Parts: sequence; structure tokens; C-alpha cells
Amino acid sequence: MLCPSSRGTLEDSLLIGVVTSHADGPRVVSTERALPVTPEILALAEPAGPSEVFRFASPCQTGRCPHFRNEACQLAVRSVELLDAVSESLPPCSIRPQCRWFRQEGAAICKRCPQVVTDQYHPSSTMIQIVTGINPAPAPAALGSYSSRNATIGSNLAARRAGIQAAPNATAASAATASARVHGSFGFTP
Ligand code: SF4
Repeated sequence: MLCPSSRGTLEDSLLIGVVTSHADGPRVVSTERALPVTPEILALAEPAGPSEVFRFASPCQTGRCPHFRNEACQLAVRSVELLDAVSESLPPCSIRPQCRWFRQEGAAICKRCPQVVTDQYHPSSTMIQIVTGINPAPAPAALGSYSSRNATIGSNLAARRAGIQAAPNATAASAATASARVHGSFGFTP
């Protein structure tokens, strides 16, 4: 099984998506196929971290991951509980048959998955709750919204540089990307 929101490493990760911006927040556009992670791909994210602008999949760590309890990934459980769907149908995805979240939660998690960015600087209170399982105090308005820190980076630009091909029916949003390194992460290393 693959964790669909891990940190990208050269050893065992696959590139599965590119973060793009959307009026309602970040949206991950799936790559046409899962791609081996190379030093060149990781370097494309600079000055951001790779998991700020890309989504990676890696082998699910099950009991070695702090998010895995009761034989389930609790990030996926809470994402289905707390996030609204952002897709009416199953979005394109290159790893669905191997995805831990899909195996566990079915279509409900796929319809929410495109809004998940692995590393976020200014996560919403909902995202903090998903990662930590704790309902945080309301964040100051300035910190509660989607960050434009990396707006100059442009994940679409990075994707073009890499020759990364989005899935045919994926809808790419505009170029500016953003996101952030949290107090936690969707990745298995908090
Ligand atoms: S879209 Fe569904 S199958 Fe694909 S990574 Fe997200 S949760 Fe897994």
C-alpha cells in the first residue's frame, strides 16, 4: 500500500501530483503516471520544499507512522470527516489501486484529496485538526488562509520544466502556487 502524502525521497517515493492554485485554495493535479523521484525533480521545487509543491507517494509505514491507529490511517479518516469534497467524481490518479487512503475510505477520500498539500506554512484550523486530531484555537485571520509564500515559484512552471505530464482530464489551475510547512504535516513524518 502507498501513502499518498509522503515526503519525496530518492529511495522509495513516486511523484504523483503537482500543487496548483485555485480560487478556493490549493489543488493538486495528478501526474499522468507515477514518476520516480530524481534529484532534478526535487531541485525544481526550490526555494520551496519538494512537498510544498509536489505530492509524493511512498510505502505506507503502518504501525511505524504516528497517524496509523486502529489499523487505519487517521489522516484519511479525519479528512473524510472534516473536509468538503472538491470533486464531484473520482479525480484522475496514478496510484489508486495501491493507495492506502482509497483502500480505506473509498471514493469519499478521493473527492477530497486534491486539496491536500503535504507541507503547509499556514494551515487552516481544519487542516491542523486533521493532522493532530486536536481542534485548535481559532487562528488569526492572516494565518488562517492559504499562504501565497511561494506565489513566485509557480508549480505549473516547475511541472513544465520537469516535463511532467498531467493526467489528460485533470484541470490545472493557474500558475501561482503556495503552501507551507506546518506544525505538522500530512506526511508520515510530522
Ligand atoms: S485521489 Fe484517491 S487514490 Fe489517488 S492519492 Fe488521493 S486518495 Fe489516493
